[in-house]
Amino acid sequence: MDVNQSIAFYGTIIHSVDVKKPVVILENTVVAIKERKIVALQTGVEKKEAHQLISNLNIPIENFQILRTGEFIIPGLIDTHIHAPQYVNMGIGYDLTLLGWLDKYTFPTEAKFHDLDFASKVYSQVVKRTTTKWNYHCLLLCYYTSRCILATC
Ligand SMILES: [Zn+2]
Repeated sequence: MDVNQSIAFYGTIIHSVDVKKPVVILENTVVAIKERKIVALQTGVEKKEAHQLISNLNIPIENFQILRTGEFIIPGLIDTHIHAPQYVNMGIGYDLTLLGWLDKYTFPTEAKFHDLDFASKVYSQVVKRTTTKWNYHCLLLCYYTSRCILATC
């Protein structure tokens, strides 16, 4: 789908706008997007009224989707804490405390990142893994690198 095209959804929207009310659930809601911006958000809409609302917004009906029961839309997630060098250690060391894990796995692994070929291979893998399928719900990712500046560039 072209991200610039107009699109609209009808159903449940879950979002947060205030720490005092961290979760807001809007049911029977129409959200319309044009040129990557929300141009309409109307709650309490009957399903039969939703099509007319979409038509009034000049959004093609083929770009209108009614969410099924149990489906909902949430804001995109931001993962601000990916230790990229530790990708190679995923799933190992659960028998250790944090300090034991750091000594046995983390520090020796991160020392390998002076080898630029190794670093390139690992960083390419972690970016590919975190930007496809299993993590595509994230709109923004922040990676931590090793202390080796050359490997990070
Ligand atoms: Zn951390």
